[in-house]
Amino acid sequence: APKTIGFIGLGQMGEPMCAFICKGDTPVLCYDRVPDRTPKGGTAKDSLAEVVAGADTVFLSLPDGKIVNAVVDDIAALPNVAGKVIIDMSTIGPAAAKQAAATIEGAGMTYVDAPVSGGRQGALKAAITIIWSGPKTEMERHQAILDLFSKNTFHVGETPGQGQAVKLLNNFLSATAMAASSEAVLFGLAHGVEMKTILDVVKVSTGNNTAIEDKFPNRVLPGTYDAGFFAELLNKDVRLYNEFVKEAGTSNLMGERVAEVWNLVEDSLPPQSDFTRVFEVLEKRNRS
Ligand code: NAD
Repeated sequence: APKTIGFIGLGQMGEPMCAFICKGDTPVLCYDRVPDRTPKGGTAKDSLAEVVAGADTVFLSLPDGKIVNAVVDDIAALPNVAGKVIIDMSTIGPAAAKQAAATIEGAGMTYVDAPVSGGRQGALKAAITIIWSGPKTEMERHQAILDLFSKNTFHVGETPGQGQAVKLLNNFLSATAMAASSEAVLFGLAHGVEMKTILDVVKVSTGNNTAIEDKFPNRVLPGTYDAGFFAELLNKDVRLYNEFVKEAGTSNLMGERVAEVWNLVEDSLPPQSDFTRVFEVLEKRNRS
């Protein structure tokens, strides 16, 4: 097992995931380009270089593939990095993951494509799912650390990009559920039925899904819109899904339609708006 852990990117997911690692026995070195995000028990470092120099395994939780690959290029250019393990938990799509893997492996390190699911709520409860594609031996070696912040770890393949494929298809389903449920609830409201009643019925009926079960009762109905996932990041995932479905050549009657909804949402809201606000966007569109 690694003697020292590094953690880069302490945002809505990274901060709570890292906080649980910090509660374990292995020292954790932390860095985010925004200062003061280091959780209790972690050691804040002023640079990426200091984290990488001191750690043998480094976790990344960064917004997108461009940023991950910029960080990965910086890591690969540092001295004495051979033998280190880089575990990327960001959602970046298969091509960006393969690019990052090539850079990391070129510098004598191991790259693991390990996106996560479960949202900020899952991260706050140490209950996320890790979708691991990379050496199984490394998963086993890190299992005790992964168990500190996740409930399920799946080894989906040995090749970087496979984890991203599973993550993207999951988020396409989640994005579709949230968009379709918003329209369906608006239809019920237009008939004078209360939102809570609609949710109570569907939750125990065949239309049930994660939006009906969780996002609507907990984030939309109370008007808090605080699921902890930015609309532009979900839109990035839908965009990546469509891009790689095209490449795979599999059926895609739904993808482009779902993308239209999330493009509209991103265009209608200020940056860093919660994705559950899709309901508000569609509601306003209804009235206009
Ligand atoms: P976020 O924007 O809240 O966090 C990203 C963090 O990275 C920020 O703290 C930012 O300051 C930092 N950062 C950006 N560029 C950096 C750099 N060059 N060096 C160091 N730090 C840098 O995003 P998030 O919601 O935590 O998501 C992180 C990743 O996980 C994304 O790829 C996202 O798609 C994915 N994801 C998010 C959720 C969710 O529900 N929020 C769930 C699963 C997966």
